[in-house]
Amino acid sequence: MGRVVDRRRVLKGAVAGVLTMWASRRIRAQEAAGGVRRLTDNLAVVDGGGSNVLAFSAGDGLVLVDSGAPKSGDRVLGTLKNLAGASKVQTLFNTHYHLDQTGNNETFSAAGAKIIAHECTRQWMSTDYWVPGEERYEKARPKAARPTETFLTAGSLKAGSEQIDYGYLPLAHTSGDIYLFFKNSNVLAVGDVASPLRDPALDYFTGAWIGGRVDAMDVLLKLSNEQTRIVPAYGPVMTRAELKAERDLMEEVRARLFKQVREGEGPKDMLEEGVLNGLARTWKDPYRFLYDAAKGLWAHHDKLDPNVV
Ligand SMILES: [Zn+2]
Repeated sequence: MGRVVDRRRVLKGAVAGVLTMWASRRIRAQEAAGGVRRLTDNLAVVDGGGSNVLAFSAGDGLVLVDSGAPKSGDRVLGTLKNLAGASKVQTLFNTHYHLDQTGNNETFSAAGAKIIAHECTRQWMSTDYWVPGEERYEKARPKAARPTETFLTAGSLKAGSEQIDYGYLPLAHTSGDIYLFFKNSNVLAVGDVASPLRDPALDYFTGAWIGGRVDAMDVLLKLSNEQTRIVPAYGPVMTRAELKAERDLMEEVRARLFKQVREGEGPKDMLEEGVLNGLARTWKDPYRFLYDAAKGLWAHHDKLDPNVV
């Protein structure tokens, strides 16, 4: 079964290279149905088991942003083979340490890929840690899953015709979030720092908080222009206007929460008083968000207001 599917994929990949524009558009429609969203001839968003994997073909190999959720490895590999034939993944970036973004790291490192991430991402993946919201420990990831190269502030990588600039987004969602800017293609991968589909999440136990989230979105807005396509960790590719709308909404939430925390309110009071009411989005689990946001605000209480005691 696997062999038949593989041969079909290889064939489809080989044929796509010599098709006319008209026909390749038809292929494109099929691929969209198969969990692939093409952004350019060399860049595509691949379904990584519910999360987004951004794949760039540099000619002599692939660059990936995030590796997908656990158990999606075969699917991701099959899709990449379909897109880029026998090209190997040479570099894998992780936007942060969460399992849905790093779930197939082992598969790619075993095949020789270099894994680049922020140093804090490597640290969270290298140790057992307590997940307060679920009251359990998460085990350290095996060595083969961990980043092989880390950075603290920023870096740049030349891959084929593309220049990929990357940089740190402090405390926006975890302690190790990064963006990747594919400059020539004008595509910006932002991990979970933008969240058009799921509730925005804050891993307060890593230091992440709502102030960091708004600041990070301002960094992303500065990097982008009206034509930039923005790829979040989950959900649809966004325009800059959509990112700006999410940033403005989070800034409104930040201002409301600062006020509430200054008044000594906890997340339950905030929820009951309707602190998230009247906004352009609703939360699936507003209490969970407010709980994590409040924890983060208490940890950063020195930044709320000079008069806070
Ligand atoms: Zn995440």
